[in-house]
Amino acid sequence: MIKMVNNWTNIIQYSLFPTSCIFCAKKAERLIDLCGACQNGLLTLDVQCIYCAQPLEIRTTEQQICGRCQKVPRAFDKVYAPYLHQGEIRYLINQLKFEKAYKNSKLLGLLLADFLLSKKAPLPDCIIPVPLHTERYRQRGYNQTLEIAKVISKELSIPIEHKICLRTQNTPHQISLSLKQRHQNIRGAFSVKQAITADHIAILDDVMTTGATANELAKTLKAAGAKKVDIWVCARA
Ligand SMILES: [Zn+2]
Ligand SMILES: [Zn+2]
Repeated sequence: MIKMVNNWTNIIQYSLFPTSCIFCAKKAERLIDLCGACQNGLLTLDVQCIYCAQPLEIRTTEQQICGRCQKVPRAFDKVYAPYLHQGEIRYLINQLKFEKAYKNSKLLGLLLADFLLSKKAPLPDCIIPVPLHTERYRQRGYNQTLEIAKVISKELSIPIEHKICLRTQNTPHQISLSLKQRHQNIRGAFSVKQAITADHIAILDDVMTTGATANELAKTLKAAGAKKVDIWVCARA
C-alpha cells in the first residue's frame, strides 16, 4: 500500500532514487520494487479452504472447507494468504531466508499489507511474527518474519509483539517430513513469557505449508489468553 498523502519523505526519495522492478529492472510505477506487469504475473491463491487457505481444485459456488479442516479442529481462526508458494514469490522468500536478500522483506510486506486491506481482514490488536530459535537467528542474522512484520506494522498501524513469545526448541527443517511428523516435530516448540492481554492476534509467517507451525503457535497463544488468532502469510503451499 502506498500512502500518498503526507508522505513527503517517500516522494522525495522516489524522485531522487526511482525504484526499479526486482525481476525485469523496468522502472517501477509505485514505491515498491516491482513493475505492474510483474506484479500481475504473480500467482495468486484462487479457490481455497475458507479456514486454512489451502489451495483447492474444485470450484463451486459453495464455500469450501479442506479435508483436514473438516477432520481436525484448528487452533487458529483464519489464514490470509495472497500468493501460492511458487514461481517469483517462492524465489523472493527463499532469497530472503537463505541468501540474505534482506530488502525482499519490504516488497513482501507491502504486497501482504495491500492484500489484507483489499480483503478487509479484521485488524488485530498486535502482530506476532513466528519466532526463530536463537541458534537459527544467530546463523541468519535476522528473523525474516520480523522484518516483514515491521513493514506491515507501519503500513497498517498495528504494534508488533515479538518479545513475549519464544521458540524454545530448535526444530529441524520441516521440508523432508510428512504431515504427521511435522506436527510431532513442532509440538511444544514455543513458549510465552507472560499472560497475553490482546484478544485478537495475527501470527505472521513467510510461508504456510501444512500449517503445523502456525497451529502450534496459535495453540500456545490461546492457552496464554488470546481469544482469536489469525494467520497472515505471504504464500501458501
Ligand atoms: Zn517487472
Ligand atoms: Zn482447511
